Amino acid sequence: SLQSRLGGVFDRLRGRGALTEADVDEALKEVRTALIEADVELGVVEDFVKRVKPKAEGEAVIRSVSPSQQVVKIVHDSLIEMLGTESTGLNLGSPPAPILMVGLQGSGKTTSTAKLGLLLQTKEKKRVLMASLDVNRPAAMEQLKVLGEQAGVATLPIIPGQTPVTIAKRALASAKVGGYDVLLLDTAGRQHIDEELMAEAAAVREATNPHETILVADSLTGQDAVNIAKSFHARMPLTGIILTRADGDARGGAALSMRAVTGAPIKFLGMGEKLEALEPFHPERVASRILDMGDVVSLVEKATETLDKEKAEAMAKKLKKGAFDMNDLFDQLNQMKKMGGMQGLLGMLPGVGKIKDKLDEAGLDDKVITRQQAIIQSMTKKERADPDLIDGKRRKRIAKGCGMEVSDVNKLLKMHRTMADAIKAMKKGGRANPFAALMG
Ligand code: GDP
Ligand code: MG
Repeated sequence: SLQSRLGGVFDRLRGRGALTEADVDEALKEVRTALIEADVELGVVEDFVKRVKPKAEGEAVIRSVSPSQQVVKIVHDSLIEMLGTESTGLNLGSPPAPILMVGLQGSGKTTSTAKLGLLLQTKEKKRVLMASLDVNRPAAMEQLKVLGEQAGVATLPIIPGQTPVTIAKRALASAKVGGYDVLLLDTAGRQHIDEELMAEAAAVREATNPHETILVADSLTGQDAVNIAKSFHARMPLTGIILTRADGDARGGAALSMRAVTGAPIKFLGMGEKLEALEPFHPERVASRILDMGDVVSLVEKATETLDKEKAEAMAKKLKKGAFDMNDLFDQLNQMKKMGGMQGLLGMLPGVGKIKDKLDEAGLDDKVITRQQAIIQSMTKKERADPDLIDGKRRKRIAKGCGMEVSDVNKLLKMHRTMADAIKAMKKGGRANPFAALMG
C-alpha cells in the first residue's frame, strides 16, 4: 500500500520540525505511483501532485503520527477538494425537467435511468416519466419498460420506427400533458465513441434542451475514462456524472480523472444491479479508496485534535537526548487513552493484525493502560525519574501499593525497558515515536 511505501521514505526523516521539500518530493513520487495504480489518468496525476506539493511543504510534523501518515492526510484532503467537496443532487428547475442520460453501450445508462427514476420518485416525491431513445437495439426499449414496471415508474409507450429526436419530442409533450416533474431520457450507446453516436445525442439535446446532461460511465474504465468524458463534454457540456459499478474492484481513479477533465460533479455512484443501488457521491469515501489507506486519515485527525503540542515538544526534546523515564511513559499512556485507547487506535490502523500481536506481547490493551498507570502512581518520585533503582524489594512495595502482583510490576518495567531501548536506538537514528518503535 501507499502507507508501507511511504514508511520507507520517512524512515529517513527524523527529528525534524517540518516536512522539507526533499521529503515531500520523495513522498509524492510514491503518491504518484499509487494514483496511477488506482487508474487515475496521467495528466491528472501530474496536475494533482503539483497542487499538493506546496501544501505539504513546511507542514509541521505531528509527533504522535508518522510523517508518512501526515502526508497521506494532506494528499487525502486535496483529493477530496479535487473530487468536489459536496455531493450535489440534480438541478431540476421548472417541470417537466428533461434529464439526458448519455454514455457508451453497457456503461449502465438504462439501469441508472431506472434507479434515478425510483430515487426521485420515492425520496423526493417527484412524478417521473422515463423514455428510451435507443432505437438501435429492439430489446433496449423493452428493458427500460420492464425496469420501470419493477420500480413503479412510468415509461413512455413504445411506438416502433420513430427516430430518437421524434421520440424525445413526444416524450416531452407527454410529460407536459401528464403533469410530470421529471423526464428521464435514456439514449443509445455504442461500443466506442463515434461521430454517429455523438451526433444523435447532440440532436436529442438540441430538441429537448435538458436541465441536466448526465454522463453514465463505468468506474472500471480506467485510463480510457478521460477520453470518454472529454469527447462527450466537447460535444455537449456535461452537468454531472454517474459512475457505475462502484461496487466492483475499481479503485476510483476514474472519478478523479473525469471530474478533473470536465469539471462536472460526480452526482451518484451505482453500487450494484438492484434498482435501489444508487448512492449520492461521497468524496471522502472515494478518496480513501483511491489511496487504499484504511483509516489513517481519521487517525491523523484524532491525533492532531488530542495532542497536547507543548507536551509533545518537551517529549521530543527528551527523546532526542535518549531519555525516557516513568513520567514519560505515564504521559504516553495518557495520550493513548485520549485517542480512544488501544482498541480505538488499532481499529484505525491498516495492517492491524501484526501490530496487535506485538501489543499483546507487550501487554498493552485497554484495561491494562489504567492498571499500568496505577503501578506508576505507586512509585516514588525518585523511582519514576530513575527506574533502574527499582529492585526486588521496591517491586514488592509498589505492587502492594496499587493492589497488584509483583509480576504485573515486572511486566510494566519490561515494557518500559523495551521502549527506552527503542528510544536509545532512535537517538542513533531511528524513528520519532516510541510506539512506532514498539509496533515495529
Ligand atoms: P447501457 O447499455 O448503458 O444501458 O447499460 P445497462 O443499464 O443495460 O447495464 C449493463 C449491465 O450492467 C447490466 O447487466 C446492469 O445490471 C449492470 N449494471 C449497471 N449498473 C451497475 C452497477 O452500478 N453495478 C453493477 N454491479 N452492475 C451494474
Ligand atoms: Mg441501455
